Amino acid sequence: MTNVLELDRVAKVYPGASPVVALEEATFTVAAGELVAIVGPSGSGKSTLLQVMGTLDRPTLGTVRIVGDDVARMSDRALAKLRATRIGFVFQQFFLAQHATALENVADGMLYTGTRHKVRLRAAADAMERVGLGHRLGHRPAHLSGGERQRVAIARALVGNPAIVLADEPTGNLDSVSGAAIFELLKELNGEGATIIMITHDRELAARLPRRIEMLDGCLVADRRLS
Ligand code: ADP
Ligand code: MG
Repeated sequence: MTNVLELDRVAKVYPGASPVVALEEATFTVAAGELVAIVGPSGSGKSTLLQVMGTLDRPTLGTVRIVGDDVARMSDRALAKLRATRIGFVFQQFFLAQHATALENVADGMLYTGTRHKVRLRAAADAMERVGLGHRLGHRPAHLSGGERQRVAIARALVGNPAIVLADEPTGNLDSVSGAAIFELLKELNGEGATIIMITHDRELAARLPRRIEMLDGCLVADRRLS
């Protein structure tokens, strides 16, 4: 199976008067089609790991490969293109444009791919359908529930068919019922072929995912698969 992501002894130190070692020597791979949960207490380095995996930040040491390419060898421009076409992001705070409709927000997920507007809108409508929001295309974020907003953000992450979807606490701002529904949605999308890495503080929900990586104080302390 192809690896979409490979980390080899990746470390991240935030410089400063007292430097913070946020991530220590992380080595693991993620194959196409996997659904991986990353769990660990607050401050254990989960978001740092996600930023580095998503090329939003460069590691201090080590190598990150996305679909085989060493990202350290890529220019900022090539990295921006890689992010735009290969990686979908979902964040706790949704980050939707308030003035735009749900459909336009999702179409914006392909903004930097060089795809025509009309084609983007069609793909966005499909993605909205996939997340169960085919009836909410014209709604603005303010008129959607939290769970629906996160579905829009997930549709935006998926619309360009990225190699990998990275989600940082996607249920963190949701009540437990909407959060559980988002988990189910991500499982469903994974069943349809999406590769997803999700940070979560919900150990109970994470325990039902096929693979769990546990972090503590910047270290990967476990990497478990459902048996
Ligand atoms: P988590 O997502 O698990 O809560 P983070 O990756 O956000 O953990 O943070 C890991 C550690 O790195 C924490 O000690 C945090 O305070 C520190 N940290 C995170 N971002 C920065 C930054 N930009 N500058 C300095 N320290 C940071
Ligand atoms: Mg975090």
